[in-house]
Amino acid sequence: MKLSYTITQINNTIYRIALPLPGYPPYINVYLFKGEVNTLFDTGIFWTWPLLRKALKELGMQFSDIHQVIPSHGHVDHYGAAYAIAKRNRNVDIIVHDADATRIERGIYTKAHDMLKFITSMGVPKPLIIPLAFLDLTFKSMGHRVTVTRKIMEDQYSLQVGTYSAKLILTPGHSKGAMCLYIEKEGFLFSGDHIVPGVKPIILAGFEPNTSFPVWQSHHIFHSSLKKIERMSPTYIFPAHGEPFNEKLNRLIVKYHKVYQLRRKKMYNLLLHNDFTVYGLARNVFKNLKGINLVLDLYLSLSETYTHLEAMCQEGDAIKYNFGDTYYYTATLL
Ligand SMILES: [Zn+2]
Repeated sequence: MKLSYTITQINNTIYRIALPLPGYPPYINVYLFKGEVNTLFDTGIFWTWPLLRKALKELGMQFSDIHQVIPSHGHVDHYGAAYAIAKRNRNVDIIVHDADATRIERGIYTKAHDMLKFITSMGVPKPLIIPLAFLDLTFKSMGHRVTVTRKIMEDQYSLQVGTYSAKLILTPGHSKGAMCLYIEKEGFLFSGDHIVPGVKPIILAGFEPNTSFPVWQSHHIFHSSLKKIERMSPTYIFPAHGEPFNEKLNRLIVKYHKVYQLRRKKMYNLLLHNDFTVYGLARNVFKNLKGINLVLDLYLSLSETYTHLEAMCQEGDAIKYNFGDTYYYTATLL
């Protein structure tokens, strides 16, 4: 992990601070809005808060100058460092969507026992179970829980960021409480992980409090959230990972949809010939998993495969059955 940051000025009052992340993607973009209401959209992981502080200093600011922090959703790279700011600035407003607030206030709450059970149920071979469970512990250390001061329930919530009036757009999909920040005047959309350049965002299998299996798995909701953004027709997209871009959104959305359909078809065809565990199917669909990021890539492809399979079960295209602790999926004939 490269231990430095880069600052890019977007306009007179908006800056992008790219902070390092271990593994892939290699960095996360934190956006600073300077003005009457100094605002950070996303924070980077807890480990890199000293870098965030240094970057802000370079821009003539301190944590105590920040009025509000808005994590786009409840994943560690987006809220991880909010605690470090809140600890040094008691007045900072931490604003998140209600659906992800518990994740942020309690930290990752998956119990080790449930995680092991879930990994085993997906048919992961023994030598990979411990590295995957360890990855989960690493994720836990990347986020520090923090008290949320404002929970957003409504769509199109208006608020001031920097010198602009902006809106928080609810875009569930990648996570249940994912939000984008929209500045209509400029046509700027700060998209979190909802829209990232190049790749279709992974739908992460999310545990909920008091569930021992992930229940958040909706590909459909993700696609309807995309439609919603498309209707707003932003001119520039500022994602949490990767470079800002102005590709026509409808083209990108068509691309996402194609990837989704192709994956789904591929999985269904494989299931027509064989019964698979999540792991078995993931290794057939995502063939190039190897090298230094194997465990992280495996985690992401298991999530994507699991959420696809569960959606197929819900829609009657597949059924699952268990053999001991392991679950298998089979296609139903249409
Ligand atoms: Zn995320």
